[in-house]
Amino acid sequence: MNKKIWLASPHMGGSEQKYVKEAFDTNWIAPLGPNVDAFEKGLAMYNKVDHVAALSAGTAALHLALIMLGVEADDEVIVSSFTFTASVNPIAYLGATPILIDSEPDTWNMCPKQLEIAILDRISKGKKPKAIILVHLYGMPAKIDLIMTIAARYKIPVIEDAAEALGSRFRGKPVGTFGLMGVFSFNGNKIITTSGGGALVSNDEWLISRSRFLATQARECAPHYEHEVIGYNYRMSNVCAGIGRGQLEVLDDHIKRHREIFNYYKSKLSIFNGITFQQESDVDHYSNHWLTCILVNPEKCGKVTRDQIRIAMEGENIECRPLWKPMHLQPVYCDKPFYGTRVSDHLFEHGLCLPSGSNLSNEDLDRVIGVIKKIMSKALVKEAENIEELVSYHI
Ligand SMILES: *Cc1c(COP(=O)(O)O)cnc(C)c1O
Repeated sequence: MNKKIWLASPHMGGSEQKYVKEAFDTNWIAPLGPNVDAFEKGLAMYNKVDHVAALSAGTAALHLALIMLGVEADDEVIVSSFTFTASVNPIAYLGATPILIDSEPDTWNMCPKQLEIAILDRISKGKKPKAIILVHLYGMPAKIDLIMTIAARYKIPVIEDAAEALGSRFRGKPVGTFGLMGVFSFNGNKIITTSGGGALVSNDEWLISRSRFLATQARECAPHYEHEVIGYNYRMSNVCAGIGRGQLEVLDDHIKRHREIFNYYKSKLSIFNGITFQQESDVDHYSNHWLTCILVNPEKCGKVTRDQIRIAMEGENIECRPLWKPMHLQPVYCDKPFYGTRVSDHLFEHGLCLPSGSNLSNEDLDRVIGVIKKIMSKALVKEAENIEELVSYHI
């Protein structure tokens, strides 16, 4: 069997173990500690943002962000429908209702038009949404300027879910820093990892110090354990933060490689009319290209479908996955209000994520490309023969 090619696997830089060893040598095997402080500082500098709290997961960061905005049972929170379930679950944790917004076709992220339609409709039904969770999927910045303008018009705070988009930029400014708060994830599959972890970022000092307080069981200032509100155990461990410090040193290398991988796939696969890419729609959008994503149009591919490609990859020991299944199609959220024209249904039906880890070699990519070329050329030749047959028949 050929070597397994993963979609996105952890890629260590080299100095991670040094920082983890430091944690062991100094016995800082705890949530909090010097690695956590240094990791937060590094992230703040990288993103040009004032305050960062390192947390146990991106999901935890979203949960705390909603709590601090006062989201409670029966409130409504707007969120991109085309996303991973972790963007939406924290809304449900609080007993609030997710209001799901469709994608637009350029960036595949939240459609500004549907956002405004939804806000007006929710207000007319008697409830103004408490927050907007804007996702930058697969690293691609959403149409941030339009979304922020609409959010400001109705005075609704924006939380950016930049879990997949660390290092992506909009008009040169890091994503995650446009909204009131931004969320990053360092799960094992993300562009850098702490094995598991996340961060909440903001230029508002109170929000970040409050999130640290809530993330450490909401312990009041007292010699005994005093609690006035309900807290959580959401801080990042000092051991994990050590991995994060090492990973930050290679983040720019990872982004460079992810972008190379995107360009490599694109240069080799653009010969097929039926294959299109999630790509930067203009110079404002700069994606870290965490995953290279394609759409397969069977009408232009000799009837080859996304699933045929995915299954052929499986046979070659290559991990490929369909794009995220939109939340309005998920059994758990399909009864929630949805505003859209089913752009994301189409993305889900025809889209495929290609292996994109920064540790993949060009030989690995050639194997992936080879599978697609083989299945496509066969189908296109067959189609051409059929056309000839048809032509000769009619003659
Ligand atoms: C990974 C991810 C999250 C959650 O991050 P965790 O650290 O795994 O909790 C949230 N939103 C999106 C879009 C993600 O991809």
